[in-house]
Amino acid sequence: MAQIFCIANQKGGVGKTTTTVNLAAGLAKIGQRVLLVDLDPQGNATMGSGVDKRAMELSVYDVLLESATVAEAAVIPEKLKEAGAPYAVLGANRELAGAEVELVAEERRERRLKDALAQVSSEYDFVLIDCPPSLSMLTLNGLCAAQGVVVPMQCEYFALEGLADLTNTIKQVHANLNRDLRLIGLLRVMFDPRITLQQQVSDQLKSHYGSKVFDTVIPRNVRLAEAPSYGLPGLVFDPSAKGSQAFLAFAKEMVARGLQG
Ligand code: ADP
Ligand code: MG
Repeated sequence: MAQIFCIANQKGGVGKTTTTVNLAAGLAKIGQRVLLVDLDPQGNATMGSGVDKRAMELSVYDVLLESATVAEAAVIPEKLKEAGAPYAVLGANRELAGAEVELVAEERRERRLKDALAQVSSEYDFVLIDCPPSLSMLTLNGLCAAQGVVVPMQCEYFALEGLADLTNTIKQVHANLNRDLRLIGLLRVMFDPRITLQQQVSDQLKSHYGSKVFDTVIPRNVRLAEAPSYGLPGLVFDPSAKGSQAFLAFAKEMVARGLQG
């Protein structure tokens, strides 16, 4: 049975996609069978895994509309195989933005992804869902399909406030749609220990959320930001970079923790 995680935060640009692709690569490197699901119509996780979002024949859009299965639509990019970090990608592109409207009148519209993933559950150890920066029908599909939520966050001034909104959303989905859903952990990303404010927010996080804060901290690292333009996760593009090493450590922490929050 695959463990299914949403990488979510309603803010944009906080490191969701970077976390998803690098965690996928890290898990693959240590022998886990991984499926990455891109639920963001921007398709950044798709491109950042080496899949051309414009050339895809089938995508998560077809899966949500039930015109394709996950097995038919997911691909393992060659470059990831060559690098020893092979994970499968169920990609997204702009077409996905239309799914929102097309699903409105459909039955079980927020459970489409859950139903589709149930068919491949025995084929993967981890399914990682990269969510868009909103609480849309797409994100709801992600939260309905998952058992755990991983929240990447920058240690900035309003971080705690934004977190309250997200934890409320998780509570509501838990109460109304998905009894299995729980917050697994908060991942500090783009961290710069020289910045006093970041240290302070990090300390606040730990005092509020305790063990829900992952031990691993992802530093700000330019190699992680450069990698997407090569169509690779940072961890594959430059495995020795500090940020890559941190994501490998995070992958190990995720294997050790699993769904225990
Ligand atoms: P989101 O998916 O939440 O919108 P991204 O993962 O796309 O966020 O990250 C936003 C930007 O920050 C991207 O340009 C990305 O390359 C960069 N970035 C993310 N994490 C790091 C990091 N640890 N160090 C440096 N740059 C980062
Ligand atoms: Mg993103």
